[in-house]
Amino acid sequence: MAPEHPDLVIRNGLLVTASETFHSDLLIRAGKISAVGQGINADGAVEIDARGLLVMPGGIDSHVHLQYPQGPHRVVSSDDWLTGTVAAAHGGTTTVIDFVEALPDQTWMEAFEARLAEAAPQAVIDYGFHMAFNRVDDRSLREVKSIIEAGISSFKIYMAYEGIRLEDDGILRALEQLKACGALPLVHAENHALIRYLTRVHHAAGHTEVRWHPHAHPAAGEAEATYRLLTLAAQLDIPVHIAHVSAAQVVDVMHAFRARGQQVSGEVCPQHLLLTEVLYDQPDELAMRYVMAPPLRSAADNAALWQALHEGLLDCVVTDHCPFTLAQKRGARRTPEFRRMPDGSVQAMEPESPWAERTPSFDQVPGGVPGIETRLPLLYHFGVRTGRLSLPRVVECTSTAVARRFGLYPRKGSLMPGADADLVLLDPERSITLSATTLHQNCDYTPFEGWTVTGWPRMVLSRGEVIVRDGQFIGRPGRGEYLKRAPYAFATHC
Ligand code: MN
Repeated sequence: MAPEHPDLVIRNGLLVTASETFHSDLLIRAGKISAVGQGINADGAVEIDARGLLVMPGGIDSHVHLQYPQGPHRVVSSDDWLTGTVAAAHGGTTTVIDFVEALPDQTWMEAFEARLAEAAPQAVIDYGFHMAFNRVDDRSLREVKSIIEAGISSFKIYMAYEGIRLEDDGILRALEQLKACGALPLVHAENHALIRYLTRVHHAAGHTEVRWHPHAHPAAGEAEATYRLLTLAAQLDIPVHIAHVSAAQVVDVMHAFRARGQQVSGEVCPQHLLLTEVLYDQPDELAMRYVMAPPLRSAADNAALWQALHEGLLDCVVTDHCPFTLAQKRGARRTPEFRRMPDGSVQAMEPESPWAERTPSFDQVPGGVPGIETRLPLLYHFGVRTGRLSLPRVVECTSTAVARRFGLYPRKGSLMPGADADLVLLDPERSITLSATTLHQNCDYTPFEGWTVTGWPRMVLSRGEVIVRDGQFIGRPGRGEYLKRAPYAFATHC
């Protein structure tokens, strides 16, 4: 039987790995990289001329929220598994890791199976999951092992947000079980009580506009939570990964713990590297676009994050892609409620009056920004072209280090023979002006509207199949595969 996709040979490109750049050909057979070298003999293979292009391992975005029902009102993020993964592919990302968040009446395994059923028919690139450790009881602690066996070897712990967060004693029990079973904690570190207190204080003062949002999420609260989390993790000798680090104070805390031998790593998002809190100082209609947690911070924080990324304290650049349309941000239309039906399916129930009367207070605006498509171009433009990061470092923090951190290496994040042929052929001279009207993200704004970046994917391959060519998506819904990830070696007994 003929293979579904022909062998390919990519010639004349500049290969970029996490450690070096070199001119070489690259041969792809049966969806895998099969040889790297000069003048590869590839009879029968389709030739791709990559002259002038950078040939890089496909991007891995380990923090995205597709089709995600957020918060008590379960407002669903506007990219589904099809639009979101198509947008990712356009921007050079060939693997995403999303989240499973069980409802109160669901087991974690049921929630995982439901999420997989959403993703499988739609995803155009490979994907995995983190499990939200959203409750600590005998049932969930028992389920950790089977969830890991299902291929989910990282668990998200929220220190803030009603309904999902864990208290310190719960965090300790969760970390204890994750250490025993070999799963990595990924932690949203913010001080919950401080957010609640400051939100109440601002409401009492009549401060409901979005400009007050960052005032309810101070960097000190993020730093305190990080310090507390690392204090707990150090007692259990378990590595931890800090989600969306936004502030210099948090970097300082991580540095201090790392200096004492704690294994701590962290991720950073392009929005926290490139945007600042002055964007909140606008009318709600504009400011609401930047509501996210942690919020945007100062230019000094941006600089500290770039420095930490350069030094390696932060090793993953991810997007926290969680798009909401302007109507969803406005809350102009109430979103459907989701109810679990007797047959186990979840159905949207339209509210009786779908139109809300007024703009919500800052704490009611759905949190999150789109970014799944713009990550690699932004990092290439503002990292490599400005001299902040080397080209290999950009590959490392958008692909290789992410693969290593989350148990996907060397299948992903590598150009070595045997790796999946997930590749980006980036044209370093192609300039694109970012706009919601031309991006493929299903969102009617981008935080980077009107920005011109130089460096954009010319071709994107997933397991040897060309899925994006010259700005056209040519893959097929459902071609993405679920990635089972192995437990970590630090496991003791489970
Ligand atoms: Mn997130």
